[in-house]
Amino acid sequence: MSQDQDFRPVLEQIAEEIGTLPDRGRPADYIPALACADPGRFGMAVADLDGHVYGVGDWRTPFSAQSITKVFTLALVLAKEGEALWDRVGREPSGNPFNSLVQLEYENGIPRNPFINAGALVVTDRLQTLGGDAAGELLSFLRAESGNPGLAVNTEVVASESAHGDRNAALAHFMASYGNVTGPVPVLLEHYFRQCSIEASCEDLALAAGFLARHGIRADGSRLLSRSQAKQVNAVMLTCGTYDAAGDFAYRVGLPGKSGVGGGIIAVVPGRCTLCVWSPGLDRRGNSVAGVTALDRFTTLTGLSVF
Ligand code: GLN
Repeated sequence: MSQDQDFRPVLEQIAEEIGTLPDRGRPADYIPALACADPGRFGMAVADLDGHVYGVGDWRTPFSAQSITKVFTLALVLAKEGEALWDRVGREPSGNPFNSLVQLEYENGIPRNPFINAGALVVTDRLQTLGGDAAGELLSFLRAESGNPGLAVNTEVVASESAHGDRNAALAHFMASYGNVTGPVPVLLEHYFRQCSIEASCEDLALAAGFLARHGIRADGSRLLSRSQAKQVNAVMLTCGTYDAAGDFAYRVGLPGKSGVGGGIIAVVPGRCTLCVWSPGLDRRGNSVAGVTALDRFTTLTGLSVF
């Protein structure tokens, strides 16, 4: 397949197939501001290494990025402090739901991986400690990589997350008791909720993830991560990016991927392209039903995969 492949025909075929899916799941309702999203929406974008983007459906509609942002905060912290982060957070699949508390006490306040909520809270605490404005730094990074200065935090979603944030607060306080969260918990939670509530489209997020396909190189040609670090982030996405469904996602899609409860999923074909798909209906593990199906169809139809 040539490097300048036109992905539009395959995207159009996938959108048509998605239109016939019998069950598209339900939007997340534990964050009330997300509950009214329409599961009928579907968008998908593919960005090549030069930043050329192909899209279908609602690919330019902003949605709540949620846990997709955990990939970018991880990358920013690895760029700042490298290996030291791994003393505070593991890199094994948890086999538990993304907001579970159950392993934390057995494992002395060290979360299994950076993509479950506990792990992401540790990463955001590090970003806040090292740079002083975790959510702001993340937003600037996403704006720069997507080329979209209009990206913003949805303050209504922030308020909704804070009002229903007892579980995340419990995780943060519990880890603070082990010394694994070092900054003030209320500040951490504010930045974490702001981070999750950033809105971006499939086009924006496919572009923003480009450094993972370019082995660590940012959109402007500068280096964020070493080649080895980019490989590590992709590996953790493959093994942990879709929580307790990561095995099934790897089986069906065969790419590093990261989902969010807004219904988005990003995926990476290293050395080739990045993808973002969005449809708000989720399965019981918090992954977009149409999103996983669309990525499954993409790798099946194109043969692009890491395997
Ligand atoms: N903001 C959500 C939460 O903290 C993010 C979870 C997700 O997207 N899986 O619960």
